[in-house]
Amino acid sequence: MQYSSSTRSSAKRRVLIGGPLAGTYRLRQIHFHWGSSDDAGSEHAVDGMKYAAELHVVHWNADRYSSFVEAARQPDGLAVMAVFLKIGECNPQLKKITDRLDAIRAKGKRALFTNFDPSCLLPRSLDYWTYFGSLTVPPLLESVVWIVLREPISVCSEQLAKFRSLLCTGEGETACYLLRNYRPPQPLKGREVRRN
Ligand SMILES: [Zn+2]
Repeated sequence: MQYSSSTRSSAKRRVLIGGPLAGTYRLRQIHFHWGSSDDAGSEHAVDGMKYAAELHVVHWNADRYSSFVEAARQPDGLAVMAVFLKIGECNPQLKKITDRLDAIRAKGKRALFTNFDPSCLLPRSLDYWTYFGSLTVPPLLESVVWIVLREPISVCSEQLAKFRSLLCTGEGETACYLLRNYRPPQPLKGREVRRN
């Protein structure tokens, strides 16, 4: 499994290929899930153990579908790579993101973020567990090939606190902090989890 640049267009597009994926999955977005304290925040658990946070790198099947929206409704439409964040040393790659959070604390704020390759956030080993599942936010469509990396990356408490300083309210409104945004694990329902 690896990232490469798409050869189909002149624009430099990052695509994920190989591993459990049949076809080329184009990078769409990245986001994080975290909790109100450092002992829970990941959406996946390993043998019942939760990590402090979880990074999701979202891709869509650009071989078979013409848009992200179309792909999100198909069983093989999306591929999400999940990376655990484990409390430890401050992460210099993550710092590029956490340093910008102050600029976008209020809901709806935006900041330009250029020359950032999300693959710099990945751990050394891309060994993974994989299963077919759903989005973890509504409408919870069953359209995701989950690729959960086994090696976590590090994050320090100060960096996690930056995420919790984000607001679910707009500028000028009474402040409400986005202290947690993870969905608890769901029943397996007979799903098979495989490893590479
Ligand atoms: Zn997510």
